[in-house]
Amino acid sequence: MIEKKLISVVIPAYNEAENIPIIARALEDTFATLPDYGLEIIFVADGCTDNSITVIENLSQHSEHIFFLEFSRNFGHQLAVKAGMDYSRGDAVICMDGDMQHPPSLIPELIRKWEEGYEVVYTIRKEDKRLPFKKRFTSRIFYKVLNKLSSVQLEAGAADYRLLDRSVVDVMKQFHENEPFLRGLVKWVGYRQFAISYNPAERHSGQSKYSLKKMLRFALQGVTSFSTKPLYMVVYLGFLFSGLSVLYLPYVVYAFLSGHEVSGWASLIMTIVFFGGLQLIMLGIIGIYIGKMFTQVKVRPNYIVRSTNINTPKKP
Ligand code: UDP
Ligand code: MG
Repeated sequence: MIEKKLISVVIPAYNEAENIPIIARALEDTFATLPDYGLEIIFVADGCTDNSITVIENLSQHSEHIFFLEFSRNFGHQLAVKAGMDYSRGDAVICMDGDMQHPPSLIPELIRKWEEGYEVVYTIRKEDKRLPFKKRFTSRIFYKVLNKLSSVQLEAGAADYRLLDRSVVDVMKQFHENEPFLRGLVKWVGYRQFAISYNPAERHSGQSKYSLKKMLRFALQGVTSFSTKPLYMVVYLGFLFSGLSVLYLPYVVYAFLSGHEVSGWASLIMTIVFFGGLQLIMLGIIGIYIGKMFTQVKVRPNYIVRSTNINTPKKP
């Protein structure tokens, strides 16, 4: 008998108790139509405050396919996916959200492309007119800014729904970033990549766990973990404004010599406020990079697993 190839499906879950049984079921149904592949579902409970973990444990007792990692607290979506990959044992790993927005019906297509020799099969979300304007708008801005500022180029709508070959997962396991930006990292590692676009479904149950604040943070992380361009921008802006101020100098001399009374209090205040703000932004940008170094040099573990039923990770 030839051994079946094993596919690991990694699902980060933050308070998704109602969605977990649905997606587990959907995956088992999908894999029932793919008899040549074994299935391993890894739920990563990311500091859930609902009964997600009980739900997963119950499921895992009734199915040999279902595994879980429980984080000791909320470490965030990206690290949850990373942990799932670290513990996965499949020949390929599929990462998808736990809210059914990533349609499991796409899986046969992902696997087909993988079998054709692509080591990374990633997906691009078609723009969904049903999404609230706020989400569509912020998402569009996000990709525009990210691509302008960073060295990896992402297609608008690049989603965290993808299949990675074992070789790529093993490379990803060597990353020890405590704020990984997986979309960028996956692009960055190279290999043969293929993109599939799909229509996102609506969230099955519950609410998005990404607030505007979390999205902004995610965007800043995306830019600052892939590029030092903002730092260069700071320097260029500095040159620009010193240049402009030199242009202003002759007028100052003229005003002094001709004995003009110094009026212009308003413009002075404007300038001070403007530059005050600008300096704060620049300091903030520099601060973000220093902050990243600070958290990275402490070499703390990136996530802490409180419990798991995966007892034989190949390389934990
Ligand atoms: N998620 C997580 N930890 C978090 C936030 C989100 O594991 O701190 C999971 C969440 O349960 C879901 C996936 O990440 O499976 C995507 O989150 P969500 O659906 O809220 O994001 P959106 O689809 O709105 O961008
Ligand atoms: Mg979602």
